[in-house]
Amino acid sequence: MISRALEAWFKVAARDLPWRTTPRDPYHALVAETMLQQTQVSRVIPAYNRFIDRFPDVRSLASAPIDDVFGLWSGLGYYRRARNLHAAASMIVRDFSARVPSAVNDLLKLPGVGRYTAGAIASIAFNQSAPIVDGNVKRVLLRLHGKDLEPDAKPTTDWSWTVAAQLASAARNPGVTNEALMELGATVCLPPPASPACERCPLKDSCKAFALGLTAQIPRPKKRSAVSELFCVSIILRDKHGRLLIEQRPRTGMWAGLVQLPTLESNDDWPALDRLQTFIQIRGGTLSPTDFASPILEFTHQTTHRTVRFKVVHAQLAPCNRKLVGRTWIAQADLKALGVSSAHKRAITAAFQMQGGLFSV
Ligand code: SF4
Repeated sequence: MISRALEAWFKVAARDLPWRTTPRDPYHALVAETMLQQTQVSRVIPAYNRFIDRFPDVRSLASAPIDDVFGLWSGLGYYRRARNLHAAASMIVRDFSARVPSAVNDLLKLPGVGRYTAGAIASIAFNQSAPIVDGNVKRVLLRLHGKDLEPDAKPTTDWSWTVAAQLASAARNPGVTNEALMELGATVCLPPPASPACERCPLKDSCKAFALGLTAQIPRPKKRSAVSELFCVSIILRDKHGRLLIEQRPRTGMWAGLVQLPTLESNDDWPALDRLQTFIQIRGGTLSPTDFASPILEFTHQTTHRTVRFKVVHAQLAPCNRKLVGRTWIAQADLKALGVSSAHKRAITAAFQMQGGLFSV
């Protein structure tokens, strides 16, 4: 039986991860599953430990300022998850008496919790018979059943959820079966270009892809989506104390709600000098053609769907400019506590390290 083989294997092969405590803490499971979305385990471990030290339970997270949460999310990216987790904690305190709900339908009401995360928490923390399907699970199931299907097509996803549900409902310990399935996909039944390590797989005797020699063909390669470009010019403006002017991004879209140097973005090409000068004037500064032509840093940041090109340029602050009232200035020591994307952190760090600054680094 598949679930028995998985559970027996998991007992001896599971990685020792900080959220795999006995018994499982549902709040810790929520934090871990949120962090693990789109992020590798090795990057999650130190961030998770820091986060749980600072927010050991759902009440401490719900009552914290969002900037503290962003500060502890540093290095994980996709900051929208941090905002959702914070909002989910508030909802749990308000609507569920500060207890993470155990039913999938209740879990799905929490901001940022989708079908996968709800299934993971319900099964792993509460041992409910709820299925989970992510990329790892889908790959294992496709190979196990010898299904040469388009992995991202809706019928394939529907099929995967059906099979995962059958597996969970037949399992003695649905949480262990689910977690074993995820672990197998992450450590043994590896995606291309790596090869699956079938010789040490607990499902080898039942696996159709292995029996038919199709492990390299299943799953089919994904179709690549088009990658667009974005051009960003980030501006260094210092006040008389040597602090940098920063701004907050809009609450929606890429890097939502995070802070950055004032940055002019353009989809087609680099913004023209006159457009940039107007942008800087509004913020109380001036930009010379020489500074425009000599950025202190240029780099490219790759996201899943975008190639983001950066230039960081130095501008002069106009003396005694009244428009600066109400703006936010930061010293280098403030940076740690702010939610900043890794790309913008690179720009801000370069600004602080810039030769000739008014303070030492
Ligand atoms: S036998 Fe190989 S292909 Fe089949 S599930 Fe195990 S690791 Fe994956």
